[in-house]
Formats: sequence, C-alpha cells, structure tokens
Amino acid sequence: MCEDHMIRCHCGRSSASLMFRDEIFPEELVSTVYCPICSAGQEFDESTMIADNDWVIEFDMEVADFFRGRAAELVDDISPAALFDGGYATWRGVYPGDHLDSARERQELLKLARTDKLRYFKEFRDWGLKRMERLRLEGWRKAQTS
Ligand SMILES: [Zn+2]
Repeated sequence: MCEDHMIRCHCGRSSASLMFRDEIFPEELVSTVYCPICSAGQEFDESTMIADNDWVIEFDMEVADFFRGRAAELVDDISPAALFDGGYATWRGVYPGDHLDSARERQELLKLARTDKLRYFKEFRDWGLKRMERLRLEGWRKAQTS
C-alpha cells in the first residue's frame, strides 16, 4: 500500500526515502528533492515547496492538480503543506533516512535482548520515547504534532 520510493537529491550527495499514501499520486508529483547542501543555493518558493530542517521537497503542481480529485481533502487545499502533512508525498518515517537509522538503533538494542530481556524491554520503550523527543527538539516537521 505504501511503497518505498528512494529519490536522489538535486546535487546527488544524498537521497531521501519517500512514501506516497495509498499511491494516490505517482512519484512524478515530486519534481526535486533538495538535501541541506543543495537547498542552500535554492530560492524557496512556498507555492511549490515544503521545507523541513533544510531538506526541501519541490512538487510538480500540475501533477498535483491533475490527480487531486482522488483525495477529497485536497479539493480545497492542494498546497505543498497539505501534500506533505497529509502523507500524500512525505518522508518514510520522521525524516529522510529515518527507517535506516531506526533499524540500526534497534539492531543495537537487540544485542541486549540476548543477555537481559527485562532491561531490553525497558530500554526499547525508553528508546522510542527519547527518540521522538530528540526528533521533536531537532525540529523535524513530522515530530511536532504528537
Ligand atoms: Zn543534495
């Protein structure tokens, strides 16, 4: 249902993993992804772009307009923020690369499970909470709502 789309940034130094909710829009909705390095030289246009901690997604608003009828909530608001916050084209996880970092961190924790299960459960619970709090403080857009 939510396939993973790896999109390379404009300068090619990084890539971001994006998700398209229910595949309502094709990947072509995203015209360019800018990492913190290539977004620096880019003029920000809020009618086509969304910024999240120096990462920028630029949408092809013609594609957005063409497919908007497929999502009722977008009929009145087809802004980049509505597309991103509604999950129609958004990071997989909280930030680009989140799923990779979180898998690695969980793998680290799993080592504990072999020696001390109770402590592992406790650490695992705290890990999730602390992680979300850290991401909220870092300012990631998707960590702000909860
Ligand atoms: Zn870049």
